[in-house]
Amino acid sequence: MAGTIKAIRGMKDILPPETGRWQLIEQVAREVFDLYGYQEMRLPLLERTELFARSIGADTDIVAKEMYTFADRHGESLTLRPEATAQVVRAVLENRLERGFWVKKYYTIGPMFRYERPQKGRYRQFHQINCEALGTDAPELDAEVIFLLVDILGRLKIEQVRLLINSLGCPECQVDFKARLSLFLAAKEGWCDDCRRRRDTNPLRVLDCKSQRCQELLRPAPMMRDCLCEACAGHYARVLELLGRAGVAFEEQPRLVRGLDYYTRTAFEVAAVGLGSQDAVAGGGRYNGLARDLGGPDLPGLGFAIGEDRLVEILPPDCGQGRQEKIFLAALGTAAREVALALLQELRQQGLAGEMDFDDRSLKAQMSLADRLGATYTVILGDQELAQGQATLRHMATGEQEQVPLPDLAPRLLKR
Ligand code: AMP
Repeated sequence: MAGTIKAIRGMKDILPPETGRWQLIEQVAREVFDLYGYQEMRLPLLERTELFARSIGADTDIVAKEMYTFADRHGESLTLRPEATAQVVRAVLENRLERGFWVKKYYTIGPMFRYERPQKGRYRQFHQINCEALGTDAPELDAEVIFLLVDILGRLKIEQVRLLINSLGCPECQVDFKARLSLFLAAKEGWCDDCRRRRDTNPLRVLDCKSQRCQELLRPAPMMRDCLCEACAGHYARVLELLGRAGVAFEEQPRLVRGLDYYTRTAFEVAAVGLGSQDAVAGGGRYNGLARDLGGPDLPGLGFAIGEDRLVEILPPDCGQGRQEKIFLAALGTAAREVALALLQELRQQGLAGEMDFDDRSLKAQMSLADRLGATYTVILGDQELAQGQATLRHMATGEQEQVPLPDLAPRLLKR
């Protein structure tokens, strides 16, 4: 016999009870997005490869090594989305949503795909909550987007986090920075093969090389903040000022770059304590040139992505455990089962969760089932009780029991 089929490496089943934690995260995120005026987009998982190649950058790890790309039956090159920002901007432009004077605010939740080496906190299918705001370069929007992220994490009681922030400047500042960086990179030996190539093609990408050796060599490298033009320096200072005024704790991280080419000006990451080496739970920044790179108008914007898989790991253990109150109906015999089924439906209609056994189990077996299902009360319905128009109501934690007339059962349980 052939063996059973397993899921693909780096892709996992998310099962109950853990799904309760995912639901909680998404519910809180949706509530917060709503408060800040964001609306949901639901986008395809597949896009034309060109969308990512043009926006993320050909020299990035994502585009060079990590995309799930294949030709469809007509030979068109398609890619499973590795991230959502380029896609949201594509959808905005395609659907002419950029029109009008107001900032456009969207969020999207779903799986992303990257062919990375799987390890704890790093998967090939992972899940992001994406926030994107388009239409102004005002630093107030940067601050608001960061407030929103901090708000989601705060409501989820994720407290041990560090907000790291930097400015990557505009393309003009980057010309100066790249020139200084290239000189620095050329003067040193020992770079990995990728970085030797990136030195010539896209020196900025050397900064986010994952090799430890390269990271050590980079220690004395020039820093972006020394190359910011006046406008970018002013923008950055204003963002920091607004965060400070709002009491949002942050750490300036002059070495922070993001693994995608489209970022300009503000870039940030949230690192969480307790996650080991893959400790980034969220990352984002400005992408003022992205819409233009994708053939659209000048449409400054910024956003972030929360890594949901990692957030689930650090959510307090008692979060997202589903409903606490549950009733079990232990019915003995066909007639009792019929009454129980009707009662159960009435309770559910009134918003009280409940379950019953359909398989004629003994009372003892049903009581242990009620225990395992975590019922707070069990209603016992046997022939004798039925004949008297009553049921036994048992409080599972204390073992206390009382006889209750059938018509009073639903009101009694609902009152509790
Ligand atoms: P990025 O889109 O690379 O800026 O990543 C944003 C967030 O997504 C990160 O901070 C992580 O929390 C999460 N993330 C990125 N790649 C992975 C992955 N391979 N597995 C799990 N989470 C990931």
